[in-house]
Amino acid sequence: MTLEQQAGPLIRTDNFIDGRWVPAQRNRQFAVTNPATGERIALVADSSAADARAATDAAARALPHWRARLPAERAAVLRRWHALILANQDALGALISLEQGKPLAEGRGEVAYGASYVAWFADEATRIYGDLIPAQQRGKKMSAVKEPVGVVAAITPWNFPLAMIARKIAPALAAGCTVVGKPAEDTPLTALALVQLAHEAGVPPGVLNLITSSREMAVETVADWLADSRVRKITFTGSTPVGKYLARESAGTLKKLSLELGGNAPFIVFDDADLDAAVEGLLAAKFRNGGQTCVCPNRVYVQAGVYERFAALLSTRVAALRVGPASDDASQIGPMINLRAVDKIARHVDDALQHGATVLTGGSRLSALGAHYYAPTVLGDANATMALCAEETFGPVVPLFRFDSEQQAVEAANDTPFGLAAYFYSQDLRRIERVSRALEAGIVGINEGGLSSEAAPFGGVKESGYGREGSKYGLDDYLSIKYLCQGGLE
Ligand code: ADP
Repeated sequence: MTLEQQAGPLIRTDNFIDGRWVPAQRNRQFAVTNPATGERIALVADSSAADARAATDAAARALPHWRARLPAERAAVLRRWHALILANQDALGALISLEQGKPLAEGRGEVAYGASYVAWFADEATRIYGDLIPAQQRGKKMSAVKEPVGVVAAITPWNFPLAMIARKIAPALAAGCTVVGKPAEDTPLTALALVQLAHEAGVPPGVLNLITSSREMAVETVADWLADSRVRKITFTGSTPVGKYLARESAGTLKKLSLELGGNAPFIVFDDADLDAAVEGLLAAKFRNGGQTCVCPNRVYVQAGVYERFAALLSTRVAALRVGPASDDASQIGPMINLRAVDKIARHVDDALQHGATVLTGGSRLSALGAHYYAPTVLGDANATMALCAEETFGPVVPLFRFDSEQQAVEAANDTPFGLAAYFYSQDLRRIERVSRALEAGIVGINEGGLSSEAAPFGGVKESGYGREGSKYGLDDYLSIKYLCQGGLE
C-alpha cells in the first residue's frame, strides 16, 4: 500500500469548530504538499480572523461544562483518545511521513511518542492536588486550589506534526481548559486527523477546536487570539522570533505563555569519553528527523586528544546513512521540509567552508533525489566565526569544533543566547558533576543521546523560552492557583 492509501481514511481538510467540520468562512484553501516529491496531497481551509473568532466563541462556551467535569471523567476521555491514536498508528504514521517527510519508522514512532503524552496526562488529570495551609489566626481556614486557566491557544510547528500538538492538547484538556489550535501550514493534516480521533473519543463539542491557515494568513488568524481577552494562555512551539512576537502581542491581555523555542545544542566529547557510545549518541540525537528537531546537536565540540579518531569514526557512519523518501523502507534520512530549509543548510555549509571548514563527508545537495534533499554531512575544523555556530542549521550537518580544556568547552557551549538541550560524554564522575551544573540548558544528556520522555520536563532557559511540557510539572502551565481564606470558624 502507498502512503497515500494508508493515510487516506484519516485525511480531513476543513476546520473543526464546535464539534463540526466547516470550511473557512471566506471559502479559501491552500495546498499541502509532499516534501519528497512536491506533489499536492490535499487542499485545506485557509482561515482568517473570523474563523479564529468562531473557534474562540466555541471554546469559551464549552469551558464551564468541561472544567466542571470530574477529573476522572476527563481522564476517561483522554484514555479513549489514546487508544484510538494507537489503533490508528499505521495510518497516522503514514500521514506524518507523507506531509512531513520523515522515514515511516520514525513516523510510526512519533505516533507512539505523541500518544504517550496523552496517556500521561490522562493519569495526571486525577492528581491535581491543592494544599491546606496551616492558618496563622484562630477561626481561619486557608487553602490553595488549582483551577484551569481557561481557553488555551496552541500553535505548533511542522517537525513533529502529531507529538507537538498532542503534548499541548492533552495537558490542557486534563487541566479542564478548552483549546483553540493552529498547526503549521506545512503539516496540518496530521493535526486534523488527531482532532477527528479526539471527537470519536468523546471530546465534547467546543472543547477542542482546530483551524488551519496558510503562512500568509497565520498572522491575521493568530492575531485575533492574541487580542481576545477570553484566550487566557498561549502555548507555542516554534522559532524564537515568532515566540518573542507572541509574547509582545499578548501583553495587552497579559496571557500566560509557554514558549518552546529554538535551540543551538552543544554536544561535547571529552578525552575520557567512551568514543563508540559518543558516536552512537550523536547519530541518534543528530539525525532524528534528518536533523530537524530543536534538540538536535548543532555544535559538536571534541577534545583534541580524541578529535581525529572521533572524526574518522563518525564520518564513516554518517557516510553510510541511507537518504531517500519515506515511501522507501530503507530510508534513514528523508527530504527536508521545504526549499527554505535546504537553502539555509546550503548557506551554512558554504559559509563554513569559506571560514576554513573542511568536508569530511557529504557537503552538497542531493538534487538527483529531489529538490529537498541534502547529504548527511560532517565538517571538520569548525570555528566560532561561522554562521552555523550562531544559528540552528536544522538539517543533517555536523560541524566538529576542536577544544583543549574543559573550561574552554563549557564557555563555548554556553556562548549562545539559546539554552534548550546540551549533551556531553565523559566517564569521569567529578567532571560529569561539574559540567552538568555549568551548562546553561533546560535539558542535559549525559552519556545519552535520546532524552525525550513524557515523564520528563521538556523546555529551555534563556531565549529558548519558558514553561515545561510533560512530567508532573507539565500541568502547572495550564493551571492557576487560587487562595481560599475562610474566616469566622471559631
Ligand atoms: P518555522 O521557522 O519552524 O516554520 P515558525 O516559528 O515560523 O517556525 O512557525 C511555527 C508556527 O508559528 C507555525 O504554526 C506558523 O504558522 C506560526 N507562525 C509563524 N509566524 C507567525 C506569526 N507572525 N504570527 C502567528 N503565527 C505565526
